[in-house]
Amino acid sequence: MKQTEALGLLRENDREVCLLAHTAAVLGWDQETYMPSRAIGERAQQLSLLQALIHRRVVEEKNGEAFAALGSGDEEPRGDVSLPPADRAFLRQAYRRYALATKLPERLVVALAQETSKGQAVWQAARQASDFSAFEPTLGRIVRLVREKADLWGYDDHPYDPLLDEFEPGMKTSEVQRNFDGLQEGLSALLDRIRGATQVEDAFLHRDFAVGTQEQFSREILAALGFDSSRGRLDVSTHPFTTTLGFDDVRITTRYNPDLFQTAIFGTIHEAGHALYEMGFEESLRGSLLAEGTSLGIHESQSRFWENVVGRSRSFWRRYFPRLKELFPQALDSVDQDAFFRGVNKVAPSLIRVEADEVTYGLHIILRFRLEIELITRRLEVSDLPEAWNQLSQELLGIAPERDADGVLQDIHWSMGAFGYFPTYALGNLYAAQFTEALQGDLPSFEGLIEAGNFQPILQWLRSNIHRHGGAKVPSELLRDIVGAALGPGAFTDYLQAKYRDVYRLS
Ligand code: ZN
Repeated sequence: MKQTEALGLLRENDREVCLLAHTAAVLGWDQETYMPSRAIGERAQQLSLLQALIHRRVVEEKNGEAFAALGSGDEEPRGDVSLPPADRAFLRQAYRRYALATKLPERLVVALAQETSKGQAVWQAARQASDFSAFEPTLGRIVRLVREKADLWGYDDHPYDPLLDEFEPGMKTSEVQRNFDGLQEGLSALLDRIRGATQVEDAFLHRDFAVGTQEQFSREILAALGFDSSRGRLDVSTHPFTTTLGFDDVRITTRYNPDLFQTAIFGTIHEAGHALYEMGFEESLRGSLLAEGTSLGIHESQSRFWENVVGRSRSFWRRYFPRLKELFPQALDSVDQDAFFRGVNKVAPSLIRVEADEVTYGLHIILRFRLEIELITRRLEVSDLPEAWNQLSQELLGIAPERDADGVLQDIHWSMGAFGYFPTYALGNLYAAQFTEALQGDLPSFEGLIEAGNFQPILQWLRSNIHRHGGAKVPSELLRDIVGAALGPGAFTDYLQAKYRDVYRLS
């Protein structure tokens, strides 16, 4: 096969795979938002048909021949050095997708799909009853299949490496370990200092916040941040998410809680951060697999940057608190901007990850990472998981759950077979802090821009340094080009220290 022919074939194949994937995303989005409940059975069939079609297109034999003709393989996924950089970037991701899919026998793919789709229902019931033993046999089978998957994908150093790499290309277990050790030290030290300070007041966040007004405010913020409503939508779902239905169609969801103010607004800003990334790929990537976030960790760096670094900053509320008070004169009666800023940044160890504050959140992730390593390396049996969870929770957070529902059963990920996923949430915080330092170097007026509600220069910086590249640059290349250094926990712990010195009036 000639190289031009091979490249044409792979580009065309990718175009169809992307169209199919976006079509599946439309169905998935509808399922979570507007689909009537009885449609679930048919929808599952529609989605699994599309997944099967996608898989078939990805693993086609002639794709393998085309990769070979271009010199693209395990050793050098980007293919021949003589190829143009844009093609080599494309080949790297296309080969990766091909290799991940072809290295697993159909028997394993089917077994994993079956166990995890049943597993989610079993997990849900077990969580409802707070009974780990009801989930244990299923989780045991899932863990065995995941270990097998890791072995088939292969690794040099650590059996957890290929699992991590699926979500965070290029990331190694040892690098996460090193980063999380430093992170844990920094977080624990800061948490100790906060424990010694007077707790901040946040009871006013539970007053009556009319849902319609919350939505109005959320939409105002969304527009201010640069979310393009001609290329996206905001809707409501039980679990907020972002999904991409096409190059010009990025959907986000939020949920409104009438007696807990921060759920909707920070949820909306978080998803907006994901959406701004998805809306920022350069035109040349349209319709290809490079028009995707380059990793989950980088994606999370964008959502957390907007949610926490911008949205939970003093400057942001200097700008928006007066507007908020206008919209909720009763709920915010007798609350001032300083109290509000401190209230939305309250730190308190809690059992549930998704409700955790910025300081303790990382500890929740370190807990899961450590347990996953133990499980994958067979040092821990699934049956010993609840006890190990509770012990680690005590060690890291100083509290332990009384019910499995508030501990080992709280998250859906393991029932989906998603091992290697959790670390990306915390990596997102580390990337975000390192990117923020670089951004502040280029835009010294960062705080002033936020206070002026002028987010365009900030978004522009993210666009030109991160978003436009899509999947053409892997995480380590983004760090190298933007920060000029490897991943490290220092920027994040420095950021937290400065912020919480202010929130908690620490000396
Ligand atoms: Zn997110």
